[in-house]
Amino acid sequence: MPVPRVYKTNAVVLSRFDLGEADRVLTLLTPHDGKLKAIAKGVRRPQSRLGGSLEPFAELHLVLAHGRTFDVVTQATVLHAWLALRDRLESTATAWYLSELVERSTEERAPAPRLYDLFLAACEHLDAGLPPGRVARWFEFRFTDELGLRPEVDRCVECDRRLEADEEFRWVPALGGLLCIAHPGPNAERAGLSRDGLRLLKAYRHVDLETIAGLRLPALVEAEAEQAMRLFVRHVLEREARSLEFLDEVRTRR
Ligand SMILES: [Zn+2]
Repeated sequence: MPVPRVYKTNAVVLSRFDLGEADRVLTLLTPHDGKLKAIAKGVRRPQSRLGGSLEPFAELHLVLAHGRTFDVVTQATVLHAWLALRDRLESTATAWYLSELVERSTEERAPAPRLYDLFLAACEHLDAGLPPGRVARWFEFRFTDELGLRPEVDRCVECDRRLEADEEFRWVPALGGLLCIAHPGPNAERAGLSRDGLRLLKAYRHVDLETIAGLRLPALVEAEAEQAMRLFVRHVLEREARSLEFLDEVRTRR
């Protein structure tokens, strides 16, 4: 049977860049075709039908035609534009960060229905006005789970023993998370993570986001949890996410 010339899929736009006079290349995440690149021809011309619909993070229903280098977007319907998300700079910067995590960690054309749903849920939470930092932590936990690199926050990664609440520990992303002090290891101690910081990480692991979003937390504890997960994600990606620079800049200006 010949390969059909066109196909339909839902997709979110992870990133895009301009090509030539008027075209744009999109990196898309789809549930069943995974990550793929598609070209939107003539989209930067004012009269383009596709015009404003192919915005970053938007969920779209697309008709695509198979192409030689890139598939070609022939029709686009916006399912979720996330206008409220786009209205707030920190939410937008956070969505760029989450997009980068997805883009950098997925293979082209490898089905990713759960990651797709996860990314969509994060956009929905950002659009609904949940605190961006908490959405990001919540996402980092589920995203690393999805990659099979679950951050361990309850048990020692070496001896598998559940740590007591008042016990000393170390946070060692390279080993997968929590390490009890019985083992020789990197001299990083807790990597700046206090007991309260660890308690917050446990909450991200075990409690739903709506509950966490409503918690009153000291800024210092949130910063510790952020730093701990930043180290963890950096280990997973094997380098720092580029979009963090923009996110940090946005937050210093708020
Ligand atoms: Zn141990």
